[in-house]
Amino acid sequence: MIGSGLAGLAAAVRFRKEGWDDFLVLERGHHVGGTWRDNTYPGAACDVPSHLYSYSFALNPNWTRSFSVQSEIQDYIIDVARRYKVYGKHVFGCEVLSARWIDGSARWELETSRGRFTADVLVGAFGALCEPSLPDIRGIDSFEGHVFHSSRWDGGVDLTDKRVAVIGTGASGIQIVPAIAGKVAELDVYQRTAAWILPRLDRRYSTPERLAHQYFPHYQRLLRGAIYWAHEAQAIGLAKYPRLMKPVELLARMKLRREVPDPALRRRLTPDYGIGCKRILISNNYYPAFLRDDVSLITSGISEIRENSIVTADGEVRETDAIVLATGFHVTDSPTYRRIHGKDGRSLGEVFDDVGRQCYKGTAIANFPNMFLLVGPNTGLGHNSMIYMIESQVNYVVDAIATMERGRIRSVEVREQAQEGFRKVLQRKLSRSVWNTGGCSSWYLDKHGANTTMWPDFSFEFRRITRRFDEDAYHISTEEPS
Ligand code: NAP
Repeated sequence: MIGSGLAGLAAAVRFRKEGWDDFLVLERGHHVGGTWRDNTYPGAACDVPSHLYSYSFALNPNWTRSFSVQSEIQDYIIDVARRYKVYGKHVFGCEVLSARWIDGSARWELETSRGRFTADVLVGAFGALCEPSLPDIRGIDSFEGHVFHSSRWDGGVDLTDKRVAVIGTGASGIQIVPAIAGKVAELDVYQRTAAWILPRLDRRYSTPERLAHQYFPHYQRLLRGAIYWAHEAQAIGLAKYPRLMKPVELLARMKLRREVPDPALRRRLTPDYGIGCKRILISNNYYPAFLRDDVSLITSGISEIRENSIVTADGEVRETDAIVLATGFHVTDSPTYRRIHGKDGRSLGEVFDDVGRQCYKGTAIANFPNMFLLVGPNTGLGHNSMIYMIESQVNYVVDAIATMERGRIRSVEVREQAQEGFRKVLQRKLSRSVWNTGGCSSWYLDKHGANTTMWPDFSFEFRRITRRFDEDAYHISTEEPS
């Protein structure tokens, strides 16, 4: 397995439960946690409620808030890894440099920073939100102050009394801005596209509530179920009938009007696309940050970066000591794709360059036998917990491996016809979704313009189609009888 974020950890725990011991998790970092290990920026927190953003097999009665902060989630992940005794299956500081399918031996051969490995089955759990996307702005390399990406926060840099620029106003940017406003000398927020923002219904759990979570696990499950269904209902508007998103947009407009009295500023903070087209954000303190005299919203675009300043498209030179790049991730073009080579020697990256990120059930890809992706193409959600999708995929992968063991199967490779049929249905559904019709450009779309990121249906529908490994969709090669 490559990667030990939430997906890799879920699979490792399941493998253990199945009694499988012959597996390793190769992790380039030095700890479990993936994106939650990496994103330590001020204000980092989850926008899915705590009781839903946890594994179904390891509910956490100790959440202190209804929406957890990064450190609490990371502690939870470490606790799960310890409790389910999977640490020993990890090789940390092990970067996979290449993985090649060798047809003769029906095996994957991996070159890593810690030597060679071979595997009958490769599980790619390398995640979608892990490779920082750095903006290609003229002169950025000449900047003499501190510059770092939101997911590589440099805790050694003291920003107090510095003039700080935050570039990007997505889920990360809108958490960083209020967390550092007032703590830095001046804060410039560079917005390219405004985001739709809804209230964050976050609060501390009272002691009686926490006791109830601890001593009445059924109550906690009930709560989790209620949160799941409340979120699931949003798929109707996002994926099926975008016009149902209008009342939600109205709610966001009302919030903006209430929190930003200045009409000119409000206009600049108002998105020009339908709500939901880009990820809907939640925050109670982002808009109020702009009411401070030391926080400025810059919307004129960046023309270049100089040694000590950022120059805007309208010619203004803004002195800057530190730049935070909250500019997102390589999602549809992960560099790891270029390191995995299938049956014909071509890398996943080359295949995706040609035909787009086609994938069967977000998990299997033609020409890449015995390889399963977790959080693969079109498994993203705009409305519910990714952990639910991850657990669904893990069910599928476990059933695939169990089927291989039972049938003495050497290799399984998804049929191109099955993959193409799946793609067509998916793209038909996506064509009416708000992500495709909402009038925005987003990282959900790949370079061919196809939405290869989002799952355009209910999450329980994904669970249904991944419940069993469907052998019929695969070329099966059976071991020679010994
Ligand atoms: P993001 O949503 O991709 O946002 C990147 C921001 O940077 C956008 O505002 C984008 O503007 C801007 N940008 C990118 N390149 C730029 C450039 N060259 N010049 C100026 N602006 C530029 O990235 P993110 O905020 O890191 O979030 C990524 C995903 O991580 C989220 O969608 C979410 O799934 C997850 N996340 C979740 C949480 C949470 O649970 N609260 C927190 C953080 C992240 P455009 O919109 O114009 O492209």
